[in-house]
Amino acid sequence: MRIIFKDKQNSSGVIKDGEILLYISSRLPKAEQQRHIDVLSARLAPRLERAQAMAQRIGAEGPPPGLTPSAVADDEALTAWAEEINDRFYHFRMGLVRFRKQESRWGSCSGRTRNIQISERLRGGPHELLEYVLIHEIAHLGELNHSPRFWALVGKACPDYQERRALLRRYEEYVRSIPVQR
Ligand SMILES: [Zn+2]
Repeated sequence: MRIIFKDKQNSSGVIKDGEILLYISSRLPKAEQQRHIDVLSARLAPRLERAQAMAQRIGAEGPPPGLTPSAVADDEALTAWAEEINDRFYHFRMGLVRFRKQESRWGSCSGRTRNIQISERLRGGPHELLEYVLIHEIAHLGELNHSPRFWALVGKACPDYQERRALLRRYEEYVRSIPVQR
């Protein structure tokens, strides 16, 4: 565990580089600082454990099944792939398809412009997750919601979408440093 004291009101913590990193307010009395350290480290411990278990598994066995690199690493290749999926399963009117920096979402789709944006974090894969997110956003061109009709559209091009979603959640947990505020 690493502790950095900072001149700010609140304390916070993240999992970073395989350990707990705490930013503790230097404005507080010693006893209160220790309380922040105890609370934050207790809260982050299970996340660190999960991240370590996942890292160990990937280290020992290579990436989990499905987590393979993808040749699709630029907007041109991404657009070609999206068009292929759209032509084969949907025939929706589609705008631009691009990688964009977005941290909070894996992908997004505008009903107005019909543009699709895929998070930079998926540039170059993992292939199965990039494919799922791309299909998910294309399906939104048909249904701008998460209704059963929407999931039926996703299932047309990605019959195992439920597994991919679960995999995406696990992957997210693995790749992300999770900030915790208190
Ligand atoms: Zn969606």
